[in-house]
Amino acid sequence: MPPFHIDKLSDEFGQYTLILTCEACKHERVTVPKMLGALCGWDAKLQDVARRLRCSKCGKKQCTAKAVPPRRAGKP
Ligand SMILES: [Zn+2]
Repeated sequence: MPPFHIDKLSDEFGQYTLILTCEACKHERVTVPKMLGALCGWDAKLQDVARRLRCSKCGKKQCTAKAVPPRRAGKP
């Protein structure tokens, strides 16, 4: 299985799940590329977008984004 790597938001046709982690307080939230694509454009790089995001808990801009393959419904 090839490694799952996302560079731009439009990679993998936007079919993946994003885990945003705040480096300051370790607050974690899960989102979808659709949300960020509408905000920043689909050609934006994932890491650039993550840097622009503000943590909803502590308000700092120290988010890192990790892309994971989409979770399939019905499987554990
Ligand atoms: Zn935070």
